[in-house]
Amino acid sequence: MHIEHIWPRSKGGSLTLDNLCYACAWCNSYKATQTHALDPETEEEVRIFNPRTEVWNSHFAWREAGLRISGITAIGKVTVEALHMKNEYVLPARRHWILAGWHPPQLD
Ligand SMILES: [Zn+2]
Repeated sequence: MHIEHIWPRSKGGSLTLDNLCYACAWCNSYKATQTHALDPETEEEVRIFNPRTEVWNSHFAWREAGLRISGITAIGKVTVEALHMKNEYVLPARRHWILAGWHPPQLD
């Protein structure tokens, strides 16, 4: 896992815990300095999910025991697209996380 800055350092984000979270290498690299993404349905800028202040299961649904993800809100949908969370390359890692009991995120 990488330590991700939710609000990027390049945009004034802090080094305090409320601005840091663990992210897999795929999500971290695709997120980069993004904080918002375009919702293709409404063509509005929508904030990317913040795992420090929001609950995973309010914005995402998991299928196949956590292997596959879908966004169920505008925030969830733009996050899945912006971070390429349906990327097939992450599936082997998710399979290991499921076996280890680390994934999917539990109700917060
Ligand atoms: Zn990830």
